[in-house]
Amino acid sequence: MSHQVPEDGTLLPLMEEFYTLQGEGYHTGKAAYFIRLGGCDIGCHWCDVKESWDAELHPLTATDRIVENASIYPAKTVVVTGGEPLIYNLDYLTQQLKNQGIKTHIETSGAYPLSGTWDWICLSPKKFKAPRPEILKVAGELKVIVFNKSDFKWAEDHAKLVGPDCKLYLQPEWSKASEITPLIIEYVKENPKWNISLQTHKYLNIP
Ligand code: SF4
Repeated sequence: MSHQVPEDGTLLPLMEEFYTLQGEGYHTGKAAYFIRLGGCDIGCHWCDVKESWDAELHPLTATDRIVENASIYPAKTVVVTGGEPLIYNLDYLTQQLKNQGIKTHIETSGAYPLSGTWDWICLSPKKFKAPRPEILKVAGELKVIVFNKSDFKWAEDHAKLVGPDCKLYLQPEWSKASEITPLIIEYVKENPKWNISLQTHKYLNIP
């Protein structure tokens, strides 16, 4: 599934890029430029971006061009997502974004080595490939997708592994949101260190 992506990160398989509002987690409601990279081998059965999995479907794009596109928007925040963006070396991308005064956020499963310099790391661990300890320690938020009841225990297991200031979020898996959301509401009321995260962009019908 891999292009010959150069290891210096000057070309990246770009699936899409768009300016919108962050829909989920700690930065919900804030404008940001999203960069979605192709390529993921984690294999979540409920994944809502399966088109991202095969990196070869997504053109290798000059990182400089991506940064140029990001820099024209008023919100100086970029969210790098995927796919699993940490499959690639993101040092060059974040360095160039920072040179433009743009804040760097990432959404990752944490299954690959950390590269890049980040203002915010949203770690959303997946059962199918465990997150790496070095990412657990530096995550700004832990966002666990709840698909069934056993995921609460799994969420607690991961909450023990993150740093003391890490924000904790439980987010209903979209296709089961009507069933799972009430369970999360009750869980958060009982365990207030957790917050609920909703995919507000889906309710708002924006990307
Ligand atoms: S890690 Fe993300 S992109 Fe990859 S399969 Fe899971 S939900 Fe989809």
